[in-house]
Amino acid sequence: MGVTEIRVLMPEVASKIAAGEVVERPASVVKELVENSLDANATQITIEVRGGGVNLIRVVDNGAGIPSGQVELAFRRYATSKINTLADLGNIVSLGFRGEALPSIAAVAEVDILTRTADEEAGTYLEMRDGLGRGKGQRGRPPGTTIAVRNLLRNFPARLKFLKSSATENGHIATVVSQYSLAFPEVRFTLLLEGRAALRTPGSGNLRDVLLELYGLEVAQAMLEVAARDEGPPAEAMAPLPQVSGVVSPPSVTRSGRGYLSFFVNRRWVNSRMLARAVEEAYHALLMAGKHPIAVINISLPTQDVDVNVHPTKTEVRFRQEGVIFSTLQRVVRGALVAGAPVPRIAAAQPPPPSPRVPGPTLWAPGSIEASPPAPPLAAPFPQASLPILRVLGQLSGSYILAEGPEGLYLIDQHAAHERVLCDRVRAQRQRQEVEVQGLLELVTIEVTARQEELLKGHGEALSGYGFALEPFGVRTYLVRTVPAILRGRDVPQAIREVLDSLAEGDAASDWEERLVISLACHGAVRAGDTLSPEEMRELVRQLEQTAHPHTCPHGRPTMILLSAGQLEKGFGRR
Ligand code: ADP
Ligand code: MG
Repeated sequence: MGVTEIRVLMPEVASKIAAGEVVERPASVVKELVENSLDANATQITIEVRGGGVNLIRVVDNGAGIPSGQVELAFRRYATSKINTLADLGNIVSLGFRGEALPSIAAVAEVDILTRTADEEAGTYLEMRDGLGRGKGQRGRPPGTTIAVRNLLRNFPARLKFLKSSATENGHIATVVSQYSLAFPEVRFTLLLEGRAALRTPGSGNLRDVLLELYGLEVAQAMLEVAARDEGPPAEAMAPLPQVSGVVSPPSVTRSGRGYLSFFVNRRWVNSRMLARAVEEAYHALLMAGKHPIAVINISLPTQDVDVNVHPTKTEVRFRQEGVIFSTLQRVVRGALVAGAPVPRIAAAQPPPPSPRVPGPTLWAPGSIEASPPAPPLAAPFPQASLPILRVLGQLSGSYILAEGPEGLYLIDQHAAHERVLCDRVRAQRQRQEVEVQGLLELVTIEVTARQEELLKGHGEALSGYGFALEPFGVRTYLVRTVPAILRGRDVPQAIREVLDSLAEGDAASDWEERLVISLACHGAVRAGDTLSPEEMRELVRQLEQTAHPHTCPHGRPTMILLSAGQLEKGFGRR
């Protein structure tokens, strides 16, 4: 770090620091104290919370400690050991640098500190009351620091009033600790909320161990590794590529909220709409509406390329090369998704009996394929992006194509598979400005609602680019001249109305065209229940093989599941 002694920053440095209050709520105190422990290179951090953090927040670490003679100084405003000069402000390698946290906390709470460096005999104890130090003394303690914060905001009833219930404040605290445990898998975190262990990470250095603790086994195993591939010199010679690492969920593992995206820039937990957008765009057309991925993304880049001195809480950052960061992140996440797209395997509903003498029928049931497919084993992430060669065997229930492949029996959802094929076809045709059009020989009219008419007018030109030609034909009635050829033979008025409705969904004005394509593909695709000839099935499988994402339909559902040769052998008691 270069700077080890705590000093008060010169006014010209202090004045350049984004000013403001750092103690918004108990979770802000936890964040500042944990950051200090991490900056002190602690490998074990225990956080104890009572009364939603208002009664007590105690953080115990085994870090470097503060030399006895500097303990009071640590509570002075702009006193920091982490930076010194203006130049340091452009090259921040620690989480803290403002020298504001401890004085700000001591101004609104009672703070007790006990700290010891490795080369001191005993720890130094100090009580801070109303911002003033008292009762300094020596106490036994292994090297490290304990800071206890009591009666937070008690003398500030107006601000105390804004805090939510203990449960809510504890939730915010758990989020802070969870995020830092993801950023620092090598640190052993323990969070005790109201006496109960809410979080314990092993400090093994393995991110999957932290994921296991936070999100459970299934998610921890299913997450796909993200790695910035080395692609030679970057296009813009001036811009060193940011290093991106971490994990993202496969499209089959989702959450209903956006709160599962974690970003760390040079190990600092940051909020960034831009980074969130880059990740979500990488999942483009792979997720069902309203579903969001889980991701843990670490970005490292030269300290000069990122400004962390934007906001007092340091959770906002500014990138010098925003565009490069955005496109790199989007590309590597997309790469991980394509490389890791698994064929969901059929899971055993119950484990087969060990060695049945008279084997009863063994039940195989798709284990909730939609929500989260049975995860592939950690070591073998089932990496093929394209399909193996499949031999069509027949049709099941008029809905599924049965096919044999090198790994076993594939069951292909004919509707989902055809949707994927059509979606890619329409997109490609649209790009070449040559969407195949079907003229209607019979007179087809369609009545629309006021809302649908509005959409029809608003998107008229774009709709005609996809092959729709509609003419006004009376009050809220239109004559249909042509439709995209993929709607051939379909209930055209019904399809048009539903396509219009799909345009009205969602809020992002930008992705309506994507919804249009998906809706067209859905209406054009064969249905469950449509009988297909062997030739039609072979053709569909052949076309599916040629798509970029054969394993999922445009809504993110799987197009196929696999019953492996191994599962068959087990099921029949052959091994
Ligand atoms: P900053 O982190 O911005 O430097 P703080 O007010 O948070 O400012 O802390 C002031 C100083 O106190 C730090 O620079 C550091 O030297 C020391 N310090 C605070 N907490 C710890 C800790 N847990 N272990 C070791 N030193 C600490
Ligand atoms: Mg700090």
